[in-house]
Amino acid sequence: MATILALHAHPDDLDILAGGTLKMLADAGHVIVLATATAGEGGSAEFDPAETGRIRQQEAHASAALAGGAYHCLGFPDLGVFNDDLSRRAVTELLRTVRPDVVITGSPADYHPDHEAISLLARDACFAAPVANYRTGHAPALESIPALYFTDAVGGRDREGRKLARDFGVDVGSVFATKQAMLACHLSQEAWVVRQHGINGLGAHMEAWTRSVGADFGVDLAEGFRQYRHTPYPKAPVLQALLGDRVRGA
Ligand SMILES: [Zn+2]
Repeated sequence: MATILALHAHPDDLDILAGGTLKMLADAGHVIVLATATAGEGGSAEFDPAETGRIRQQEAHASAALAGGAYHCLGFPDLGVFNDDLSRRAVTELLRTVRPDVVITGSPADYHPDHEAISLLARDACFAAPVANYRTGHAPALESIPALYFTDAVGGRDREGRKLARDFGVDVGSVFATKQAMLACHLSQEAWVVRQHGINGLGAHMEAWTRSVGADFGVDLAEGFRQYRHTPYPKAPVLQALLGDRVRGA
């Protein structure tokens, strides 16, 4: 069985972009850990940052439990995620603690600075984790660089509106009800996305997105991924092999 670490910026990002895939991996007996860089404490007009962060971590715990995994928050500030020395060491220590075979993170190009920063941090922590002389804490260095995958960006586009490439889709039709239930755990975000994003309902937004990815791959509902294969990262299709016949267009 494999261990998969999914790391994104805020509670709810993973649910929208990879929740179905993570649920399928857990159902197949793999260990999944969902982690966020921040508690998403900026995401409220009703509560102060401390209360918002507390609520959103509770929501993320509940969502991860529905997927069959654990949740961990790195505690970086919302809108304050940067690819700097201390942050890279913290993400590397997380990798050394979880010891994943596969890391799934956000797209390096996306609409939100935290999304782009955590993607770079995850990429660089994968490289750093096996370097024994790179000191991060108590967990021992990894044996090798984990296989690294990027989710789609939100809306599948970079900040200039250009469509981003992906390698394959995962048919998540069989677990879509759980994906919906996971996202519904993020109750605090319903009012926020109306205010900040002009989106009338997080669930409807997620379903429209998952259906549009599905249409790209000839299925009803899908999630898209790209494997990072540049040297010296693993080129073998590790995640695709774990997902088997759910993979489309690889
Ligand atoms: Zn986000």
